[in-house]
Amino acid sequence: MSLLVVGTVAFDAIETPFGKTDKIIGGAATYIGLAASYFTKNINLVSVVGDDFPQASIDMLKKHHVNVDGLQIKKGEKSFFWSGRYHNDMNTRDTLTTELNVLGTFDPVVPESYKDCDFLMLGNLMPVVQQKVMAQLPKRPKLIVLDTMNFWMDSSMDELMKTLAQVDVLTINDSEARQLSGEYSLVKAAQKILAMGPKYLIIKKGEHGALLFNKEQVFFAPALPLEDVFDPTGAGDTFAGGFIGHLAATKDISFDNMKRAIIFGSAMASFCVEKFGVERLVGLTQAEVEERVQEFIDLVQFEIELG
Ligand code: AMP
Repeated sequence: MSLLVVGTVAFDAIETPFGKTDKIIGGAATYIGLAASYFTKNINLVSVVGDDFPQASIDMLKKHHVNVDGLQIKKGEKSFFWSGRYHNDMNTRDTLTTELNVLGTFDPVVPESYKDCDFLMLGNLMPVVQQKVMAQLPKRPKLIVLDTMNFWMDSSMDELMKTLAQVDVLTINDSEARQLSGEYSLVKAAQKILAMGPKYLIIKKGEHGALLFNKEQVFFAPALPLEDVFDPTGAGDTFAGGFIGHLAATKDISFDNMKRAIIFGSAMASFCVEKFGVERLVGLTQAEVEERVQEFIDLVQFEIELG
């Protein structure tokens, strides 16, 4: 069961109340691929970087079972660059810079060997590129998950709506759900967004967990209360990587299995925020991942006898 991941591979510069980084590697697809690698070893990446992107980081992705045949390296061009500053609550941030660079002219090419994919993760990048990837697949994957952000709602809403109509699951944060639907209530927002195409909607609420909706049901998972949160960058992508990684590994796309996938995604996101950038997601052991998932189970398990 192969998993195709599309999204940015990038440089980020991050400021949080705890410190500041120079350019470090990031990008939606980087986080998704790393997180998914703890669940499945069959990950194919489609993305683009400039020749300023370090070979060591590409090798690091390869070591995490991410096939990079579909990663275009543009000679003499610069990689996508994003910088952001977090507020004191670490749940909200301002984007300081978005330099599209190579992304501005990106024409994705899905290698032949990737085409028979069962799971497709459309990570954050321009909606028109996400559509071009779907159009190159000869058969529709079993499950298509889309992640996007306010930047694309502000700049490419029409294209985003077209992409949205073609996917099964949308993951966005609470403020993006409000922006997309024009509703403050997340329950009302969910109903409106589900009418736009996706069968499932995941609303990420940072340190307040995540909600999974379909038209009839809703499920909530908290985030793990952590002692140290250094950098939330990539937490949403990491969540998405753990979520789709678990679904791809189990080949089960039922609502009940999506609930479990949300716990795996949340567990991976809890690692991500503990260090700057991707640092904490590199080289975790399976035992560490299992221990973290167990902490989630212990956190939410209780018994009540009614009557
Ligand atoms: P997250 O914190 O999960 O929203 O993801 C942060 C990552 O998304 C960073 O590593 C950025 O490189 C990447 N990113 C930021 N803005 C964009 C954008 N407009 N399109 C695609 N990726 C982006």
